[in-house]
Amino acid sequence: MKRALVTGGSGGIGAAICRRLAADGCHVIVHANRSHETAAALVGEIVASGGSAEAVAFDVTDRGLSGAALADLLTGGPIQILVNNAGIHADVVFPGMSGEQWDSVIDVSLNGFFNVTRPLILPMIRTRWGRIVNISSLAGITGNRGQVNYSAAKGALHAASKALALEVASRGITVNVVAPGIIATAMSESTFNDQAIKTLVPMQRAGKPEEVADLVAFLASPQAAYISGQVISINGGLI
Ligand code: NDP
Repeated sequence: MKRALVTGGSGGIGAAICRRLAADGCHVIVHANRSHETAAALVGEIVASGGSAEAVAFDVTDRGLSGAALADLLTGGPIQILVNNAGIHADVVFPGMSGEQWDSVIDVSLNGFFNVTRPLILPMIRTRWGRIVNISSLAGITGNRGQVNYSAAKGALHAASKALALEVASRGITVNVVAPGIIATAMSESTFNDQAIKTLVPMQRAGKPEEVADLVAFLASPQAAYISGQVISINGGLI
């Protein structure tokens, strides 16, 4: 049974990815930062429906804590599927953006990618099979007003993913990016109302977390062995 770590598994999209990977037969490590109880409840739900899961909690911006938690997880064997999904946004137009708003968003998405992926990569390489899927955003492709920090963090993740994909391609490891548009979770509900979504999105609705999870699960599957270094957007026809 392959072990899969989903960072931000306590959030809207992350939880859908955890459920889907568990349904596909993975042992899922549901990661949270502050929402320990949500992660534990999701583990309970997965196990109750016949799946295999455990919860872990750490702040991906803390390199020491992340390293220690991952070293502990690795004592149970290599993690061959990694979904870097944890992310935050702190939207404000650029002239009003504070250093803290800039740093915090970059810290979770970009430094979090480093802090989680680097400790896992050598054990993954040794197995000669791995799947890394980084959850980005349409804002990382097109940019978005009020999201200079978020667009920068996600755009940098695209470049990092492409570079890492080249490094590990010969070891049976793929690295891809899923860049969602507007997906119905707590994160988007604070930014877009129904009318705005109807106006903006050609399909006139927000995407479902499960639709993102389906794409991630395919990229994490053996069938996606020849897809690497790609940024795939799921956005209802927005671009
Ligand atoms: P949620 O706000 O529902 O979930 C965010 C997750 O990230 C939570 O599990 C949270 O953990 C975790 N997280 C936040 N900060 C940290 C940290 N410092 N260390 C570890 N974990 C952290 O967001 P979504 O599910 O909507 O978003 C998931 C991903 O999808 C994000 O990367 C986001 O940028 C991206 N995305 C979302 C879109 C949308 O419309 N929803 C659109 C485009 C991209 P906890 O709650 O336990 O603290």
